[in-house]
Amino acid sequence: MNLRIKNCQALLPLGDGFAVEQKDIFISGSRILALGSAPGGFLAEKTIDAADRLVIPGLINCHTHNYMSLFRNSADDVPFDEWLFQRVMPREDRMVPEDAYWGAMLGIMEMLRTGTTCFNDMQMHIHQTAQAAADAGIRAVIGRGLSGTGDDEGGARRLREAEEEIERWKEHPRLTFTIAPHAPYTCGRDYLIQALQTAKKRDLPLHIHLSESAFEVENMKKETGLSPIAYAESLGLLDVPILIAHCVHVDEEDIRLLARPNVSVVTNPASNMKLGNGFAPVPEMLASGVRVCLGTDGAASNNSLNLFHEMGLVTLIHKGNKKNAVAVSAAEAFQMATRKGAEALGLAQEIGSIEVGKKADLAILNLREPQMMPQHDLVAALSYSANGSEVETVLVDGEIVMENRRFPTIDEERVYYEVTRRAE
Ligand SMILES: [Zn+2]
Repeated sequence: MNLRIKNCQALLPLGDGFAVEQKDIFISGSRILALGSAPGGFLAEKTIDAADRLVIPGLINCHTHNYMSLFRNSADDVPFDEWLFQRVMPREDRMVPEDAYWGAMLGIMEMLRTGTTCFNDMQMHIHQTAQAAADAGIRAVIGRGLSGTGDDEGGARRLREAEEEIERWKEHPRLTFTIAPHAPYTCGRDYLIQALQTAKKRDLPLHIHLSESAFEVENMKKETGLSPIAYAESLGLLDVPILIAHCVHVDEEDIRLLARPNVSVVTNPASNMKLGNGFAPVPEMLASGVRVCLGTDGAASNNSLNLFHEMGLVTLIHKGNKKNAVAVSAAEAFQMATRKGAEALGLAQEIGSIEVGKKADLAILNLREPQMMPQHDLVAALSYSANGSEVETVLVDGEIVMENRRFPTIDEERVYYEVTRRAE
């Protein structure tokens, strides 16, 4: 479809930062065709009047477990170990595949409502997550969470299933994949190497959790003499494109190992605080040239999938923690939620900024909201003032997937019915 967004302000890339410019946006098919004036012969089939609106690149959630939306507010205010091993894992074991579909759909609704157009998911049901993403129209990067020893039937089955589902869905225009070994404490050395070989063979990024809790780091050092980051490095995991969730308990040497162009750290500030794991050294990582992007983690440990919340936190907590008002800026937070995320996922040519030729993955925000007035600095407003409720309309791949906060592709009431019933 040919689509025109008129009278809007657009948040455009300018060097390392941003410029807000009054520019119409012309979209043809899935891509941005022009900014400013209409290309010759362009005939809009639909025009969105976006006066008093700001168009931003769709946000990119680089680490979540979308199906966990079903567990929202069911495991709170308990220690990390109890949260994972006694609350979350037993629930995961009782889930049937259809639960994963409806949990994923609930998460997708929340993400679209708050301007997220792409999410990087680690879960147990690739097919149901892929189906939910395809039905809703959101862009997704999907990895089957893997655990095993390297010579157990369960681990081998999970890896086999992952490859089968990738084969089944790989032609879908909005879906890409990762190989996602859960963590070194749930994956044996041989299994991690198998995952790495699979990632290399398929030319896919790895997605893993490392150095989330102090306990995990202590145990790994006892077992191997190495930190989780150094251990991953010793196995070759840091030699390929990899997204590493958390990196909360990392030292200087770890940070040095993480500073490579193929490695991306996904910081999840709300989850790290909620589970009592602490603050990732994001300012130090940024200063050392580590690519840091932003995630929500699952709704069982956040308990929302709202990246506006995370952008606020990632600036505020590090300013507070470091007693340094310039520790992480609003523009850095917005980069983490857009361009850096696209780079981490290997999608920098396609998404992450509003540029001619890129995919039209866009969120349109209503600026006539009290928290967005007056408009001195809209980048600051996005990180410090916005809460996601400003997002009115969302496009993915040039298609409208939310318009005036309604979903053309999702039966909202059915989702609420299913998740209520299944959560019980
Ligand atoms: Zn996680």
